[in-house]
Amino acid sequence: MTKEQKNFICYGFLIALQLVGVIRLISNGSSTAEYDPQEATARITKYGLAERENAVHLMMGVANPDLIKEATELSDWDGTLMWPVEDGLYVRGWRPKDDTDHIGIDTSAPAGTSVLAAADGIVAYAGDALGGYGNIIFVVHKHGFITSYAHNTDFVAHMGQLVRKGQEIAHVGATGKADGPHSHWEFKYGGKVCNAGPLVHEEFLQAGTNAPMKDRPQATWEDPAKRPEGIECVAWRESRKEFGDSIKQAVGSLMNGARNAVNALRRLWHKR
Ligand SMILES: [Zn+2]
Repeated sequence: MTKEQKNFICYGFLIALQLVGVIRLISNGSSTAEYDPQEATARITKYGLAERENAVHLMMGVANPDLIKEATELSDWDGTLMWPVEDGLYVRGWRPKDDTDHIGIDTSAPAGTSVLAAADGIVAYAGDALGGYGNIIFVVHKHGFITSYAHNTDFVAHMGQLVRKGQEIAHVGATGKADGPHSHWEFKYGGKVCNAGPLVHEEFLQAGTNAPMKDRPQATWEDPAKRPEGIECVAWRESRKEFGDSIKQAVGSLMNGARNAVNALRRLWHKR
């Protein structure tokens, strides 16, 4: 084979690969927002996004009002959410009878599968400060709706970054308290955790049967003040199993801080 022939095959392959990408993008109907490092860094500083405290507040369904304002200006919101793990299988849903503390939806998928933003928004935290949740990423959407995606292997989107519905933000993993690779997905609004299930209007497959989940309740939540009847919301409680360890850690570090302060005072006292 001549050098030209080899080059021709190489370029042909690359072009075909690009075409597949474009076709996938068109068929998904999704777009991606460019990462602007300066803009993202400015938000991290302004809102203290990297702080553990911020992650804890987001967990409870609370975001900085100015961040919500920014997200509201930059995002579209049609009152529905996109299934966050393409080809992922539904494993466990919102507060099943045997585990009413489970306030999210579990989707199993091979490690490394794309985790997608369920709607437009700003990445308000990406890190591992919440113990059992492993590598968790939060997105603040228009009006202050919040989604979180736990147990990721790693992150694709950056803290402070604007993302579009369907944009890849992380990779499925088993970090934190997880028996195997899966994505634990939560949806929050106004200091409460809500059932995201009815807001997903697409069909998705159920693990075990691989049959599409049909005839599920469906709802659209456009105006935040008008929560649809079918969407249950519960107040966040510290007793949540997956969060328990994280709280213990937080109390532990507070106690350490107090001990260090006392020791420092003692040293000062003895220096006199
Ligand atoms: Zn879960």
